Amino acid sequence: MNAGTHIPFTVVVLIPLYNEEKNAALISDEIIHVFATVPHAAYKILFVDDGSKDATLTTIQKLAAANNSISYISFSKNFGKEAAMLAGFQHIPATADAVITIDADMQHPPSLIPILIEKWQAGNDVVYTYRERSNEHVSYSSKLYSKMFYWMLSKLADVELENGIADFKIIDKKVLAVIKEMKEDAPFFRGLFKWVGYKQLGIPYRVEARVNGESKYPTKALIKLALHNITSFSTKPLTMAIYVGFFTSFMAILYLPYVLYSLYQGIAISGWASTIATIAFFGGVQLTVLGIIGLYLGKIFMQTKHRPRYIINEIKALN
Ligand code: UDP
Ligand code: MG
Repeated sequence: MNAGTHIPFTVVVLIPLYNEEKNAALISDEIIHVFATVPHAAYKILFVDDGSKDATLTTIQKLAAANNSISYISFSKNFGKEAAMLAGFQHIPATADAVITIDADMQHPPSLIPILIEKWQAGNDVVYTYRERSNEHVSYSSKLYSKMFYWMLSKLADVELENGIADFKIIDKKVLAVIKEMKEDAPFFRGLFKWVGYKQLGIPYRVEARVNGESKYPTKALIKLALHNITSFSTKPLTMAIYVGFFTSFMAILYLPYVLYSLYQGIAISGWASTIATIAFFGGVQLTVLGIIGLYLGKIFMQTKHRPRYIINEIKALN
């Protein structure tokens, strides 16, 4: 059950950080400030330092030492944002009524937190946010990329994901209980949170400019991430590979009479260009299909090793 309006409740704010030494104090101050305006709400902040190379860890250690409501987990190296979120989810105390995930760089406006809480109290189990369409703090290429990515994912996977859906959301404890038990080697939380069902609500938000530091996701990394996320959420590309195979074989059969005819006419040698074109085309198709199969095989390989999805170096647990 969601907390009623007059019963005190606790929300854990989970913040993954990778090289955010200048942002950690800013965001926690902002969160504390915002929570002071929400009636009956107690906050807790859980930082997850994803193997930062700068002074992020010492910064959050200081913040945690000065405030009992702040705690942290620190990884032995960089495991990626999804791993940081998973670690956070698995270390949220049972006393928490809900958890809010938010980026450290202030691109997700903390001022929206009271609205997330209000919509959660109104009975929604997950209240997520997605980027408003007109947004000056997002580059054209990243908008185009994101549009393509969500379009493909919606077509291929059986979840409906809004264009620009963010990791800025509030999650009820009953949904959290399901999510933290997921055994996936490489979880894609934006998809998983939609996949689990429950009562969900999406609200648009304006992306702010990153205050300090730079984005960890250049376009090249985004393409890799897209391939990774799509193959971890859908097996449709494998089915598509079979259809591509059928189609090209069919075309090859159509082509055969012409080949025989040319042979019969004795003009076979003039077919050099078409031969090369065909070889190149089929070569490309085969490599693509093999690549798709390889991606899935790689996933199975990684998952069968049962390696830990993150390694904790240091922890100050929440109580
Ligand atoms: N992040 C992380 N591990 C990573 C990369 C990023 O924990 O390997 C965190 C980062 O510190 C930030 C959030 O994930 O709090 C979003 O990262 P970023 O702002 O770089 O992504 P963008 O907003 O550019 O998509
Ligand atoms: Mg950002």
